Amino acid sequence: MRLLLVEDDLTIASPLVRGLEREGFSVEHAECGADARRALDAAAPDVVLLDLGLPDVDGFELCRELRAVSGVPIIVVTARGEEVDRVVGLELGADDYVVKPFGFRELVARVRAVLRRGAARTDPTPTLGPLVVDRRTRRAFVDDRLVTLTPKEFDLLALLADDPGAVYGRQRILDEVWDPHWYGPTKTLDVHIASLRRKLGRPELIETVRGVGYRLGVAEALV
Ligand code: CA
Repeated sequence: MRLLLVEDDLTIASPLVRGLEREGFSVEHAECGADARRALDAAAPDVVLLDLGLPDVDGFELCRELRAVSGVPIIVVTARGEEVDRVVGLELGADDYVVKPFGFRELVARVRAVLRRGAARTDPTPTLGPLVVDRRTRRAFVDDRLVTLTPKEFDLLALLADDPGAVYGRQRILDEVWDPHWYGPTKTLDVHIASLRRKLGRPELIETVRGVGYRLGVAEALV
């Protein structure tokens, strides 16, 4: 499981990273909001631990931002223990809330709990071979691993998943995922396909149909 730790205080972050790695997590550490945004995209974490007191951005704002582009579970970690902050933290889309100082065991238990809840939520969703596209929560899983996608990447995947194996023409995809009046570079589509393939980690899931478009390559897995 990949965990993104967003924490600017190294006296907290360093032992936490070591501890979490001992627990079997692969930990990406971001020290500010800008790093966190980059890491969310590059590292595709399964869960985010987010400190609200960051040097470059308001933690609540960042939480809202991350939630807007990703379904990844977020646990807010903060020194602010005020009740009002707790409510706001959860209203911003955080999945759970831990107040400093917290016990390491408690934190690990919370992390495992949100990961379990995330996995359980996908149960009623039809599975396309190794791929699960949960439209309700806008989350995608490959081999039970949560894949962190941007809104466009998710829309693109969800469109292809509407009719697995069917070929979607480039113009139709641009019309439906972008805009019927999309006159921007069609290279945008290729860039998103490349990014989606990379994040899914199984490039064969999205097949290129030369000169036409793309299709979801799981039809064989369904029959
Ligand atoms: Ca801090």
